Amino acid sequence: TQKRLVSPSVTRDVVTRHGFQFKKSLGQNFLIDGNILDKIVEAAELDENAGALEIGPGIGTLTQELCEAAKQVVAVEKDGRLLGVLRETLSDYDNVHIEHNDVLEANLHEIFAQHFEGVSEVSVVANLPYYVTTPIVMKLLEEKLPLRNIVVMVQREVAERMAAKPGGKEYGTLSIAVQYWTEPQLVTRVPESAFMPAPNVESTVIKLKVRKEPAVQVKDTDLFFHLVKASFAQRRKTLLNNLQSNLQPKRDKETILAALDRAGIDPTRRGETLSLDEYAKLADELAE
Ligand code: SAM
Repeated sequence: TQKRLVSPSVTRDVVTRHGFQFKKSLGQNFLIDGNILDKIVEAAELDENAGALEIGPGIGTLTQELCEAAKQVVAVEKDGRLLGVLRETLSDYDNVHIEHNDVLEANLHEIFAQHFEGVSEVSVVANLPYYVTTPIVMKLLEEKLPLRNIVVMVQREVAERMAAKPGGKEYGTLSIAVQYWTEPQLVTRVPESAFMPAPNVESTVIKLKVRKEPAVQVKDTDLFFHLVKASFAQRRKTLLNNLQSNLQPKRDKETILAALDRAGIDPTRRGETLSLDEYAKLADELAE
């Protein structure tokens, strides 16, 4: 077993030796808190048959622990300057593949086919770059990869939006998309001091347990998500107003009112008060 990279002194040493300059635009805040690292790896529930997909390995701090805990690890890193660093810091491991790419451009199905053939289940485990958190999580969900769970460090507000229940201002399209595909669970809050350099936002580790079946059954998934998007287009407007102006394809007022009536939903309510079940019911009435 190699020396853990997670300590501040080891991280500083690696970074200095390679003349590496942190890029804020790539969300480069490296984890230097071993307790938080342990909690992330524990939440992923890996074993010697499991695969782990990491997004943004940095200098390999989390990657190293994933190599110890899982059978096979794939880490997708956009920054080419880190490839030489990773070659050095992960030299003890033969169960890791570094994919040099922007994760949003990467063909994840192909990566799974090439590298996760002999593994039982795959978890995504990552300390995400915050400027692209939502697109990354949406990609993981919408591509319907065979995932067991997704354990990610995100900005605290984003974690709260993912786990939000109806009725509050955090509840929105991200909450519904995440909860449609997964069961979210907050793992731990993380202070700024856990990173080098310290970001100016608080972070949270969240675990998204991927559901075998979506949380609600609908006739038309695209319509369901269009309905949700339209319902939140202008948060202060009523459901009826939002649906009249934003639903695609357009429906007239009578059609919308009739569907709301059949679904048992008051047209003066706001989008943020509807549960996933209510959105599902309404989507099915609009599909008729
Ligand atoms: N995993 C390391 C750790 O915990 O210390 C680094 C985490 S750092 C918050 C985010 C990492 O994601 C950086 O290494 C950054 O270069 C990388 N990254 C940024 N944008 C990316 C993208 N679009 N695709 C893949 N990696 C990206």
